[in-house]
Amino acid sequence: SSLQSASLARVKPSATLAVTAQARELKRQGRDVIGLGAGEPDFDTPDNIKAAAIEAIKRGETKYTDADGMPELKAAIVAKFARENSLTYETNQIHVASGGKPVIYNAFVATLNPGDEVIVPAPYWVSYPDMVLLAGGEPVTVIGEEADGFKLRPEVLDAAITPRTKWLILNSPSNPTGAAYTRAELEALAEVLRKHPQVWILTDDMYEHLVYGDFDYVTIAQVAPDLYDRTLTCNGVSKAYAMTGWRIGYAGGPKPLIDLMRKVASQTTSNPSSISQWAAVEALNGPQDFLAERAAAFEKRRDLVVSMLNQADGIRCPKPEGAFYVYPSIEQLIGKTTPSGAVIDNDETFTAELLNAEGVAVVQGAAFGLSPYFRISYATSEDVLEEGCRRIQRFCASLK
Ligand code: PLP
Repeated sequence: SSLQSASLARVKPSATLAVTAQARELKRQGRDVIGLGAGEPDFDTPDNIKAAAIEAIKRGETKYTDADGMPELKAAIVAKFARENSLTYETNQIHVASGGKPVIYNAFVATLNPGDEVIVPAPYWVSYPDMVLLAGGEPVTVIGEEADGFKLRPEVLDAAITPRTKWLILNSPSNPTGAAYTRAELEALAEVLRKHPQVWILTDDMYEHLVYGDFDYVTIAQVAPDLYDRTLTCNGVSKAYAMTGWRIGYAGGPKPLIDLMRKVASQTTSNPSSISQWAAVEALNGPQDFLAERAAAFEKRRDLVVSMLNQADGIRCPKPEGAFYVYPSIEQLIGKTTPSGAVIDNDETFTAELLNAEGVAVVQGAAFGLSPYFRISYATSEDVLEEGCRRIQRFCASLK
């Protein structure tokens, strides 16, 4: 009999972590590698947040807390939802876990039965389908086309819903496309969801603070208050506050769901690090002005990358509203040949040959459920981005 469980056998390892590991290995061999694969801000965690963690250690805040987060952090999250999203939650409607990832996983473990369907709009963040599978559910992929800015059309959503649909996942701004839904687009999806009361909505708002130009960020429970009772609003400090290593994510939702998620945490992980929770209190309650400064830096990088990629032969790069990703098309490069004789038959070959020829690490669109595209993370310096894009231009020019 196999060591691996049947439910784990349905899951594949994270493709984005695989690309990062491959780039690291090439670097170790002495290759000059430009890593545009990892989805992590290059900025440091702000000093006031670090200081709050150090103070927490000195005060002896180093013991167990409530399994789903301590009251001080839940209060800071309640205030955040009220201040930034006009959403009213009580502290008993808040779930805190060791990152945005486990918040989502706890929700699925708490609610999915075998055969339950979860609608996952593609291009999707790599972990959604696999977390659904691991929790025993069935991911149902629907496509957001490039022509629609990679966003889900209401009629496509409507056609995908069945009596077994338990959840719809929304992720705005999106990893991997950077696409963000406007108020009108969310209202149109809400109109469909009103017809299907069995469907819960998990909205992953992790990139909320990274939107550009005059884009007005809104989340679905705010736009459609009548869906509040079946919406889980997920967020976290990882991306906005450059705190990926601290591992704090959170969600607000209806009390019956939050009670179930607490039950999962109480028998599995228990509380996220008490020290990280105090750091997150400072992140949410402390000064917020650096968020706009960092968003401005990201916006400049987006503009640089979009412009340089659109100057590469055969690449078409849409300009997304947010996050720190772009999702260019390589449709026009399919069938071309590299100088070493490899035929670009799909986006996986494209990214492998690009890494080979120019040492640029990016992630193939196949990993996110829509080909032929690739994802670039621009959460790195303008110098590195310029060099990376120059190499991509050179690689594309070399294809015949
Ligand atoms: N949600 C999205 C869309 C993400 O891109 C990520 C991280 O890559 C997460 C959630 C997970 O965040 P965390 O590091 O807090 O688990």
